[in-house]
Amino acid sequence: MAFPEKVDYAIIGAGIHGLSTAWHLAAKLKAKGKGDGSKIVVIDKDSIAAGASGVACGVVRNNYYQPAMRELMAMCVEVWESDAKKFHYHDVGYMQISPACMENDVAEIYAQQKNIGYDSVFIQGEKDSENYMKKMFGDWQAKGITSVLHEKRGGYANNTSAIYGLADKAEAEGVRILTGTTVKGFQYGSNSSAVTGIETDKGLIKCDQVIVGPGPWAKSFWDMLDLPNKITIKGEDGNIHKDYPMWHYWMLTEGVLRVDPNFLKTDDGNMPPVIHVDTDAPLYSDSDKQHLITDKLWGIYYKPDFHFGGIQGGSSPYKVGEPGGEGVNVDPYGNKSEDFVITDEFADMWSSALAFCHKRFEGKSHLFKKDGGGLGCFTPDCFPVFDQFRENVYLIADSNHGYKMIGVGKLVADEVLGEKSSLLEPFRFSRYEQGKLHPTSNSPFPWS
Ligand SMILES: Cc1cc2nc3c(=O)[nH]c(=O)nc-3n(C[C@H](O)[C@H](O)[C@H](O)COP(=O)(O)OP(=O)(O)OC[C@H]3O[C@@H](n4cnc5c(N)ncnc54)[C@H](O)[C@@H]3O)c2cc1C
Repeated sequence: MAFPEKVDYAIIGAGIHGLSTAWHLAAKLKAKGKGDGSKIVVIDKDSIAAGASGVACGVVRNNYYQPAMRELMAMCVEVWESDAKKFHYHDVGYMQISPACMENDVAEIYAQQKNIGYDSVFIQGEKDSENYMKKMFGDWQAKGITSVLHEKRGGYANNTSAIYGLADKAEAEGVRILTGTTVKGFQYGSNSSAVTGIETDKGLIKCDQVIVGPGPWAKSFWDMLDLPNKITIKGEDGNIHKDYPMWHYWMLTEGVLRVDPNFLKTDDGNMPPVIHVDTDAPLYSDSDKQHLITDKLWGIYYKPDFHFGGIQGGSSPYKVGEPGGEGVNVDPYGNKSEDFVITDEFADMWSSALAFCHKRFEGKSHLFKKDGGGLGCFTPDCFPVFDQFRENVYLIADSNHGYKMIGVGKLVADEVLGEKSSLLEPFRFSRYEQGKLHPTSNSPFPWS
């Protein structure tokens, strides 16, 4: 097919957001009698699912302390459920298992899930929590747990398969996906700040509207669009913080324990929910039962996964580079990176944590495989920015929350076609200057 010299809608990034937006936008154009997917081109420097969407653990949950995130996730879960087969989505549910210092936060989440009709069960108290878990797994042995939030919806999807499913849906609507084409910069109009063309390594693509789903490359596009790397933030205390760095990076640590995925079935023979455990009980290495790994608040998540071929999951990420994120090499990404690799310390911590939770994992740490992990590019408050810049550039900067956010593309398509979404309103860039920040929780993870 010829190189497209002019399109109505250019979408950059063939990850979850770019492809979900392309699919929904094409369908909406058709429904409104305004054309179809042939007005849309998705551009990616590499291939479909080459970025964070292709390495993600794939967990889909509602468990967020921030009301705006919870409401948005409930909508996204509906999109996952709308075609579970095509999206390779496993609706096994999700569990947040927590210590006393997080119990009030999680109780609030549960109360608000009831308000929005999101099906979940909340167990409180050390004994009752243990009984609840032991009914599911007879070998449950985690310590320091005082509550269990069990979300009956959510679960996980097989990471690349779901993204290929989205690509199929977009292509079925007539969208063209142009891979192996790198965006180098933008051309602007002479009388406005709007983008008139996208400069790629294969030539210029003129366009009316740009949508960017950049994942970990958010800062690169921010820079290409000449947006400010230092911003003003009004803090919770009302104080104004000037020159606050817009972006920073965290490395997400994940891996796989190479056992049969059926190894984690529940006692009644079913696939278990995705499990997330936070605790402040001391964690000792499973290799010698003596070496103290940590006695501070720590957390892990895990699930059986046939895509990864074992029990897959991760732990808390660590910060990378200086605030501002200058000089951090996002490329090559994921497993191909030489700078950001999964360490032996992580392997020991995560496999010991599995053994801390279930007896069946004791003595299995030698089966750990370094597969997964990657950089995430985060905003100042670690929550997404969904907003229009430079008149015609819609940026979906998800601050690394986004695999589960398959529905955001549907709402972005509405916004691009002129219909504002109340679910996306709390994620505007102006919230920083206005001090409309999202509340922070006591979780050890930057995304809870
Ligand atoms: C290890 C890990 C585990 C995660 N686990 C989960 C999870 O369990 N649940 C969850 O909800 N989220 C998870 N996330 C976060 C989630 O993966 C991301 O938030 C989400 O995938 C971002 O999607 P995206 O479409 O914005 O970006 P991406 O999927 O990263 O896609 C961006 C695309 O842009 C392309 N691109 C970049 N620069 C250019 C350029 N100059 N020109 C053309 N194309 C370009 C890239 O090739 C890439 O394909 C995880 C992230 C990581 C790293």
